[in-house]
Amino acid sequence: MSHQDQMHRYLFENHAVRGELVNVSDTWQKIIEGHDYPQPVQQLLGELLVATSLLTATLKFDGDITVQLQGDGALNLAVINGNNRQEMRGVARTQGEIAEGSTLKEMVGNGYLVITISPEQGERYQGVVGLEGDTLAACLEDYFMRSEQLPTRLFLRTGEAEGQKGAGGILLQVLPAQDASTDDFTHLATLTETIKTEELITLPANEVLWRLYHQEEVTVYDPQDVLFKCTCSRERCGEVLRTLPQSEVDEILAEDGEIDMNCDYCGSHYVYDAIDIAAIRNDSATGSEQVH
Ligand SMILES: [Zn+2]
Repeated sequence: MSHQDQMHRYLFENHAVRGELVNVSDTWQKIIEGHDYPQPVQQLLGELLVATSLLTATLKFDGDITVQLQGDGALNLAVINGNNRQEMRGVARTQGEIAEGSTLKEMVGNGYLVITISPEQGERYQGVVGLEGDTLAACLEDYFMRSEQLPTRLFLRTGEAEGQKGAGGILLQVLPAQDASTDDFTHLATLTETIKTEELITLPANEVLWRLYHQEEVTVYDPQDVLFKCTCSRERCGEVLRTLPQSEVDEILAEDGEIDMNCDYCGSHYVYDAIDIAAIRNDSATGSEQVH
């Protein structure tokens, strides 16, 4: 299972329905390694990762999507961020014991799902859905119905096969502005549902698609690699620093002589001393793109 994580898009030629099949096993391991997450949290991050990868693959523009679960339960935050290049990162925060086998609702408590779509050019969009469904997939299907009015099915799977952990999933969606018959869509969803987690995380994509849809005419497009990559940088962190109250920053500088910012997603540290801070403030005062 040491293959590269990949996203495959496909189209049913005789139905107005498209699909996406993704394996994110390596990316998942990179996101959870180095953290001491309880088993159910690891699994949920895996499902969130599969979902975010499938969602970003539906973007028609350059940008990124953040899928975030928030609540008052022992798991107060689980978030995955990914962009149209399929560069994914994520983190979870707990504030209490999480028992083995806990369900989504047991972990998150009273909570909701926040989906933030940030195009590189243009307006940010945010959608919020309550955790009505019992599973993450059900909550996201609800989101698609409300926001895009497109019938969508998501199959999010995590598990273990051949002694290794894996995560993968499938998205089926009716094409916008086309009449797909409900029966066709239900039929394709029923076929898709038969996929076993083990097949999804161990078999090559073409094999999975053949097993599911060999009676259908399916066009499969060139795959896209999925990878773990944090998009943080010293510059971006500096921008965050710039938004903090100056008095607060000055206080820390006076006490510690430097400001140590660390990235929640990847753990990178960015250290700024008084001179760095002065430069950041100077940049924001004059406009960093101004030519002198
Ligand atoms: Zn980072």
